Amino acid sequence: MKKTIYLDAAASSLKPKSVIDAQMDFMENHYANSGRGMCARANYVDEMVASARQKTAGFIGAKSSEQIVFTSGTTDGLNRIVHIIKDSYKLSHSWVICISDMDHHSARMPWEELQHKNGIKIVACPLDSDFNLDFSLVDRIDVFVITAMSNVMGAPQDVKGLIASAKQINPNVITIVDAAQYVAHLPIDVSDWGCDFLCFSGHKIGADTGLGIMYIKNPDKWFPDKFGGGMIAKIQGSLATNDSHWTLSKSPDKFEAGTLPLTQIAGLSFAIDYLTEHKDNQNLIKYMHNELSKIDKIKIITSPDAFVLTFIIDDMHPIDFGALIGAYGICLRAGTMCASWLHKLMGYDGTIRISTGWWNTKDEIDTAISIIKKILKV
Ligand code: PMP
Repeated sequence: MKKTIYLDAAASSLKPKSVIDAQMDFMENHYANSGRGMCARANYVDEMVASARQKTAGFIGAKSSEQIVFTSGTTDGLNRIVHIIKDSYKLSHSWVICISDMDHHSARMPWEELQHKNGIKIVACPLDSDFNLDFSLVDRIDVFVITAMSNVMGAPQDVKGLIASAKQINPNVITIVDAAQYVAHLPIDVSDWGCDFLCFSGHKIGADTGLGIMYIKNPDKWFPDKFGGGMIAKIQGSLATNDSHWTLSKSPDKFEAGTLPLTQIAGLSFAIDYLTEHKDNQNLIKYMHNELSKIDKIKIITSPDAFVLTFIIDDMHPIDFGALIGAYGICLRAGTMCASWLHKLMGYDGTIRISTGWWNTKDEIDTAISIIKKILKV
């Protein structure tokens, strides 16, 4: 296969060798299910899961590993949170859910879907001219969905400040942070931010697909949204006497019904270590921003400080450009990137995004720039 230059880190990160080795080692030498066995092999898996959970807690500043729930990804977590809140509270028409046009479909659609069914009220938090959430016009709020970093704009939001502002309006506001992009670039401190929930995906930080992290600040407060094996402490009563019921285990078990994505969890701690050592890839984006801003046909949308580079091209549809550059072996993202509301707001039917990771070199960026120039005939 032709050598590719992978400039699509924001869609999914390439995998460090240490992650691949850890997953292979798990499958070849240690494989068993977790939370079910009594032999040394099963104990090994339990310890591996516990240690990955502990590592993740430390990575995002959680106070306890009981606050870390494994899911299948950010989308899964963001959907589950809606159901967890719905099942724990009686959401009524008076509830105001504050989302924004910057949200990824995964953060916003589950709430819009609930609105169709339950009639909750959704308002969009305005964005200022730099596409930062501008909380000054919001006057009523029960749930606040915060995209910590947009996958199109690549700029960090002041999550801590936004949560503090929301709490001034409603001290009991429930705050949900979509950290899918933020986590790959900047440190997270959930305890300092004070959010109730936070989600991200393993695959964007170098771990495997099929694994997500859902942080829950007060897990005892919430009722689970999924039911099955490994989540109950004891059962009581019976169907015959019409009093069958159960006592739930504590978190994280009560939120993790069924078998966990163990192979992906085997690589997680290695991905966190690798990311922590190789986090800053902003220089390549800055460099490319500077070079592409010299080309008249290119209109850059992101700021020079952003962690991604998003642009449009005069007289060329982003999808056409994506296909052309793809034929040269450059992988990038073109289209609305599951951020349709933001594109609608900006008046574009698509954009082109370049995002880099630890594997990219300056030579690759120079090659990409010369191919872009060739395509645009400049
Ligand atoms: N939120 C944001 C900001 C994202 O960038 C993404 C992935 N593009 C998601 C949510 C969804 O992540 P996943 O597809 O891993 O569930």
